[in-house]
Amino acid sequence: MPYTLEEEDQIIAAAAAASEMVEYESIGETVAGRPIWGVRVGSPPPPSVDSQVHVMLTGAQHGNESAGREALLQIIGLLGDGDPYWVSAFTGVQAIIVPTVNRDGVLRGERANGHGVDLNRNWWELSQPETRAVAQVLGSARPYVHVDAHESLNNIDINNHVEYRAPGNPQAYEGVVDESVTLRDRLIGNARDNGWSADVYLPGSLGGLTNLDSQMILRHSVSILIETNRNDGYAFEDRSTIQYESFQEVMEYVNDTVGGLPELRSAAETHVTLVGAAADEPFDIRSTVINPPPIAYQLVGDIPEFHLDVFNIDIGDNGVILMGQSSQPVIPFLFDTESNVQVGNGIRLFSLVDPDPGNTPEQFDDVIRGSHCFLLEARVITSYTTSDNPAGVDVPVISGDVTFDANNDVFGSLSLTTDGSNECNGCSEFPTRPDDLYSVYGHEIFLRRGVDLGEAGVLWSPLGYYRIETVEQAGHSNSVLTITGRDRMAGIIESRPLVPIEYEPGTRIGEIVNDLVRDVYPQATIIFGDPELPQQAIRRTVIAEDSRHDVLVEIAESNGQIIYWDGAGALRIEPPPDEDTPRVYLNTGSNGVLVDSSRRVTREGVYNAVVATGESTDTDLAPVLSIVYDAGENSPTRWGGPFGQVPRFYSSPLISTSGQARSAAESLLRNNLGAPYSVDFGTVPNPGLRPWDTVRIRQKDGNRELHTITSLNIPLTATGVMTGNTREKTPVNLHANSSLVPPRTSNDNGEIEVTDNGGEG
Ligand SMILES: [Zn+2]
Repeated sequence: MPYTLEEEDQIIAAAAAASEMVEYESIGETVAGRPIWGVRVGSPPPPSVDSQVHVMLTGAQHGNESAGREALLQIIGLLGDGDPYWVSAFTGVQAIIVPTVNRDGVLRGERANGHGVDLNRNWWELSQPETRAVAQVLGSARPYVHVDAHESLNNIDINNHVEYRAPGNPQAYEGVVDESVTLRDRLIGNARDNGWSADVYLPGSLGGLTNLDSQMILRHSVSILIETNRNDGYAFEDRSTIQYESFQEVMEYVNDTVGGLPELRSAAETHVTLVGAAADEPFDIRSTVINPPPIAYQLVGDIPEFHLDVFNIDIGDNGVILMGQSSQPVIPFLFDTESNVQVGNGIRLFSLVDPDPGNTPEQFDDVIRGSHCFLLEARVITSYTTSDNPAGVDVPVISGDVTFDANNDVFGSLSLTTDGSNECNGCSEFPTRPDDLYSVYGHEIFLRRGVDLGEAGVLWSPLGYYRIETVEQAGHSNSVLTITGRDRMAGIIESRPLVPIEYEPGTRIGEIVNDLVRDVYPQATIIFGDPELPQQAIRRTVIAEDSRHDVLVEIAESNGQIIYWDGAGALRIEPPPDEDTPRVYLNTGSNGVLVDSSRRVTREGVYNAVVATGESTDTDLAPVLSIVYDAGENSPTRWGGPFGQVPRFYSSPLISTSGQARSAAESLLRNNLGAPYSVDFGTVPNPGLRPWDTVRIRQKDGNRELHTITSLNIPLTATGVMTGNTREKTPVNLHANSSLVPPRTSNDNGEIEVTDNGGEG
């Protein structure tokens, strides 16, 4: 008969009292509140279960598989008796033995724990008190060798007394897998020598991902699963003898290899750290292969502190988990959205540093007012990159320009004229095959424009990545090529979902953006200017019906942000630049940069009120509404003034609070307000300027006006003039009020919230 729980308590307490090689402590409690014993063994025993050990032995995860537990308790008892064999086996070796992981199950003779959970399927989730207790010990003890004792009814060959598994995993370090196989084969040989029929457990199988032994191989432990046969005809006494003899062989292996174990561990940790940092090998999480692999994960939402702790995962302040660390093999399992054992929401990152957006317009402004030397580089890029200075094929530029327009869905577009023949071999560059340089099947042209400061270096501004869209050649086969391209948003717009993509309430903004963008560009770098935004959960269902771009724009707009692909090829969702502070002065005269300007007044695109509502058909969430209008007494566009009443209506399921409604309304109004008065200008090119930047323009009549750039055209030649379009900004006084509009009977049910200054913000 197996030892009772009381006998277990007595054996352990007696051994600890009798032998200096045995100490014990409770490492946690079962569902029913019983202590789980962690027995420290060695000479001296490890000072606590928090110290690193050579070997850890666990038994009875399944309460009806007691033979291993029996053997472990016998060994502890013999150590207490000063048995020379076991005293010698644990001399110079430190070990932790948890003879009974599932004490409640043992008491009832059942497989599962007190919650009815199979503990050996719970090693990623760690939702049970028993697995949490043992995981905590594993995380700090980090045993070089781990052996888990079970018994089998159905999966074992009915003719075998015992079977052993050395688990595998595509992501496990090869040296540790090989060493586990070595130990497994020693155990099989030893059992056979002792007269038992023994073999490999479930040959050909890597082992269940959720099993403890399988996880330990990912954590660089030489790992073994023992399964004795508990079918009819296999006596409990024989089974516990086989387990006992197995532990003898395990300890002989540990004593034989003890000097090499730390070296193996450190080789494994070094290897996976380098592989993770290089991010150039596909990562197999068994449910899918992640290729390319991320260089890091950005955690979105709750940080699973306990899991980070027990899996020894380092995390940065900003919730970024680098793959270049010794826990690399478990990270995607825990955090990738494609993982079957995910415990936290991680967004794949393919670039760690925000790419340099280049020098600022202020920096350029200092040097372009005098004579200066202009530089331009154009490169064809054949594989996806995010960088302000990517590797590629440099190509000559005869003429062309880059246009940025804040009002276009695709922010940046390119027109470029280049040589029609290769300067080395004279062959025509007109693309006829998919892998030709100017192929329209995905190749991009990267551009940057700079000013040479001589000894002081070069000021650069990356102008972006433009997918080649059309290539034209007039005349003979060597005449110039004219190429047009659009930035990466074009790919997002084109890639319309074949079926609607639906996001349920509770989904975080970061996950939605990640999903919509990385489906098109798996390696995209996404930068949120407001770190809170990706954490925000939506409260109504959001559906990308036939356009992923529409949803992305709505996410930006409803949060008062702008969205665009920047010069270094990263997607940015960020608040617009400060509109009250001019970045540079555009003026005429000596040292002036303004070459020419013309003015235009138009009412086009100007509103003086915005009604923002949050509603959708599918939730119980009450609709919210905010009305914001121009209330400036002296504003020419004031509501009810001479400009009239020109409201814009904006509705989005992404707006769920009245505070959000108000913020969306305000930012939309700010972007469409101001004197309906625009300037076309031509200036010495300042490569750092972009739409949404505010500039101060001094007109010929001496008037100084604050303008926001709406579009820009940057020439790709030294003599070209930069042209653009602005809208004048006058400081506006926005107010939210309901009295401007008559009550809307359809929605006037008391649930509409019209914010004013005292409202929720
Ligand atoms: Zn089992």
